[in-house]
Amino acid sequence: MERVKAVVVGAGVIGLAVARRLALAGLEPIILEKESAIGTETSSRNSEVIHAGIYYAKGSLKARCCIAGKWWLYRYCEARGVPFRRCGKLIVATSEDQIAVLAQIRANAAAIGMPDLEFWSKERAIALEPALRCVAALWSPTTGIVDSHALMLAYLADAEANGAILALRAPFERAQVVADGFLIEVGGAEPMRLHSRVLVNAAGLAAPAVARRIDGLDPAKVPPQWLCKGNYFTLSGRSPFSRLIYPVPEQAGLGVHVTIDLAGQCRFGPDVEWIDEIDYDVDPKRAESFYAEVRKYWPDLADGALQPGYAGIRPKLAPKGAPAADFLIQGPDAHGIPGLVNLFGIESPGLTASWPLAELVAQKLELRSLPAEGIAL
Ligand SMILES: Cc1cc2nc3c(=O)[nH]c(=O)nc-3n(C[C@H](O)[C@H](O)[C@H](O)COP(=O)(O)OP(=O)(O)OC[C@H]3O[C@@H](n4cnc5c(N)ncnc54)[C@H](O)[C@@H]3O)c2cc1C
Repeated sequence: MERVKAVVVGAGVIGLAVARRLALAGLEPIILEKESAIGTETSSRNSEVIHAGIYYAKGSLKARCCIAGKWWLYRYCEARGVPFRRCGKLIVATSEDQIAVLAQIRANAAAIGMPDLEFWSKERAIALEPALRCVAALWSPTTGIVDSHALMLAYLADAEANGAILALRAPFERAQVVADGFLIEVGGAEPMRLHSRVLVNAAGLAAPAVARRIDGLDPAKVPPQWLCKGNYFTLSGRSPFSRLIYPVPEQAGLGVHVTIDLAGQCRFGPDVEWIDEIDYDVDPKRAESFYAEVRKYWPDLADGALQPGYAGIRPKLAPKGAPAADFLIQGPDAHGIPGLVNLFGIESPGLTASWPLAELVAQKLELRSLPAEGIAL
C-alpha cells in the first residue's frame, strides 16, 4: 500500500483546480479519474461562459465565487495563454412585461457586487446586433467565453509541475476513515490501495455516491441530489450574433440562450429537462420547443437550421419547483472528519468559480494561504 499526502477524486475542472491548489501547497496529490481522459463529463458539456455574477442570491457561495472567480480567471487565462474572449452578453426582454424583470436582475446584480450592468434601449441593442428582436436589454460587459478544455489542461499542467500525479482509468471504489487519514481502494485494470491524509471528493454528478462509499462518514451528511439535463442544439454556418444573447431566466436554468464559441460557431441551449438517470442523448424532437424559444429574440431562424448538439447534466441539491440551492462544500467543520472535503451541487457557475472553490477547499483543510494567487474571497 502506497502512502500519499492527498487524493482528489475526479478530473473535471473542479478536481483539477483543487489538485492545482493542493499541489501549490506542497501536498503532491494523486488525482483519480475513472475515465480515460480528463474533463469528459459536465466540464465539457456546458456553455463555456465566464459568468459575470448577476442572478445569484446575496451572500451565497455562488455569488461570491462567481464574481471573484471571473476576475481571477481573466487574469489566469491571459497569463497562461488559455483562449478566452470578453465578448459581453445581452439579456433581452422580448415583451413589455419583461422590462420589469430586467430591472430586478439589474438590482440583484448591483446588490451582490456587480454594479456595471447597463440598461439598453431596443434601438441601441439592435444597432449592435441587427439580427436581434427585443423591446429592451441589459448589457453585461464583463461576461465572456473560455476554452474549457484548455483551462483544464492549464490547471493540470500547474498541478503536475508541482508534484501532482494524474491516474486515468482509476475509479475510486471506497474509502475507510482511519486514525491518520483514509484507506482508499482504487479499481480499474490496475487496482491499488492508498493511504492518504487528505481526501477531496470532486466527483461531480457522482459526488454523493462517492461520499456514501466513505466508511466512517455519517450517511445523513450526504445530501439528496436531483438531475436536471440541459440540451443544446447547434446552428450550421456563422453565428448571427457576436455577443452572447440570453432571454430572461427561467426556473432551474438561464433560458435557451445563444452561446458562441471561440471559433465563431453558435449553439442554443441549455433547456431544462428533469431526469432520473444519467443519459447524454439529445432527443431531436426537442428542437420544436427550441425554434419557439429562439424565434422570440431571433425571428429569422430558418426551419431545419438546428441540429441536435450535446447535453450536460446539472447536479441539483433542490428538486423541481424548489428555490435553487447553493454550492455545498463540506469540510471537517460539517462532518467532523479531519482531511475530508466533499463538493456537492457544483452546477453553474462552477466553471467560472473553479478557482474560488479550490481556495475554499484549501481553507477547509487549513492549508497555508498563497498570497501570490491574488483576489480576496
Ligand atoms: C448544461 C450546463 C451548462 C453549464 N454552463 C456553464 C457555464 O457556461 N459557465 C460556468 O461557469 N459553468 C457552467 N456550468 C457548470 C460547470 O460546467 C460545472 O460546475 C463544472 O463543470 C463541474 O465540474 P466538476 O469537476 O465538479 O464535475 P465534472 O466535470 O463532471 O467532473 C467530475 C469527474 O469525476 C469523475 N468521477 C466520477 N466518479 C468517479 C469515481 N468513482 N472515481 C474517479 N473519478 C470519478 C468523472 O468521470 C468526472 O471526470 C454548466 C453546467 C451544465 C450542466
